[in-house]
Amino acid sequence: MPEKLIFELPDGEENSYFCKVDGNPQDYISPQFIRNTPPLIPNVGESGVVRHFINLSTLNYHVDKNLYPLGSCTMKYNPKVNETIASDPSFTQLHPDQPTSSAQGAMRIMGELQQMLGELTGFTAVSLQPVAGAHSELTGILMFRKYHQNQGIPRSKILVPDSAHGTNPASGALAGYTIVKVKSNDQGTIDPEAVEKLMDEDSAGIMITNPNTLGLYEPKLPEICRIIHHQGGLVYMDGANLNALLGMVKPGELGVDILHFNLHKTFSTPHGGGGPGGGGVAVTEQLKSYLPVPVIYRDDFEWKFNYELKNSIGPVHSYFGNFQVMLKAYCYILRLGLNGLKRVAEQAIINANYIRTQLEGIYHLPYSRVCMHEVVFSGDIQKKRGVKTLDLAKSLLDQGYHAPTIYFPLIVSEALMIEPTETESTESLDGFIQAMKKLDELSQHNPEILTASPHKTPVGRLDEVKAARELKVRFNEQ
Ligand SMILES: *Cc1c(COP(=O)(O)O)cnc(C)c1O
Repeated sequence: MPEKLIFELPDGEENSYFCKVDGNPQDYISPQFIRNTPPLIPNVGESGVVRHFINLSTLNYHVDKNLYPLGSCTMKYNPKVNETIASDPSFTQLHPDQPTSSAQGAMRIMGELQQMLGELTGFTAVSLQPVAGAHSELTGILMFRKYHQNQGIPRSKILVPDSAHGTNPASGALAGYTIVKVKSNDQGTIDPEAVEKLMDEDSAGIMITNPNTLGLYEPKLPEICRIIHHQGGLVYMDGANLNALLGMVKPGELGVDILHFNLHKTFSTPHGGGGPGGGGVAVTEQLKSYLPVPVIYRDDFEWKFNYELKNSIGPVHSYFGNFQVMLKAYCYILRLGLNGLKRVAEQAIINANYIRTQLEGIYHLPYSRVCMHEVVFSGDIQKKRGVKTLDLAKSLLDQGYHAPTIYFPLIVSEALMIEPTETESTESLDGFIQAMKKLDELSQHNPEILTASPHKTPVGRLDEVKAARELKVRFNEQ
């Protein structure tokens, strides 16, 4: 510990806010906060640091390495230019508490992004405050609740299809509703008749995903919306699969009342491993006054925040949401334009159907029809040979691929949910298809290789329950 602490930064206009400290640390810092031993800072050169992190990055799987077919998650390639823009100091140095008059550029980006998303999906107003899909669901369902409270007739139930993502019933329950399960038909979609039987004046409405989690378009959605509205209910559409609809379908025109976005999925932000996400809800004119505050708007001269919204459910997050994720979505949309976004959807659908047609028969396809952006196989054929879907997923790692989503949706036994995304070339799809065919062959001739997999990864088959309960995150720790 040096006796005298001299901390000095160059003088000059731009540094005038730095202070100069001259004297003993004890003069400035309370004794309890002064350390007695030097900090343990690793002493390595730049090359050592770079190699350490590059090597670490290759131990894990990521989309910069290869195709990442994790169904439902849209692990597409995210253009690097968005990262460059989002890390520009003119954005990163902004503080959410600074006067809005001094942050008009950022305000404009948020305001325009809301307008673009509203236009793209057919809604009047958008809030980008929620920071994930699940968070948006809760926001939307709290708006349902307040809307019905304002009508003087709060309702107690909400309809959710059996193919829904787990966050749908969870959000409904968190908002205080009892979940009423709607059974899918043998085509994998929802029948208006099934909805009509369950919908009543004590049900707030329905949460429906389109395309649904089987990757199938819900053809009867407009009719379902009419049934729900007829009983005074509202329709929430889970928009996690919006990359299949961009520029082609406007959910607002089908009768949906609230739609959510997963900015990190559809509009390109690297995600997974817990971060960062961006959500958002789009609503009809009727529900506009229920949005979380603050809402952003533009008067004749500048962009402003309104904190006084008549029916607002209140804020759902600190400040305005995840600004950097919005920034990436904004760049992505401007870069692609409406035609580019439409091509995103077309390509996502073509890629999934290419995989579907190449693998059908080799893997069981329970709902055998044209799919949207993802395809759900069942591992039933391979299971008869003693190879479970979990074994297939682990074996794909040895083939150099991340596993698809498995055992979801729950209505497909031994489910393998594959979403290739729009950013993969025919060559990379072919590579993945070959790997899946190879696994099928191995399941016939050498199932023991698959059941003991993975063999080539830094760690082998884990006891997953133990791994989740006794987390060890140190490198080299056994
Ligand atoms: C990803 C997903 C969600 C949840 O979104 P998060 O952003 O992960 O909270 C909800 N529904 C569906 C269909 C999804 O794919």
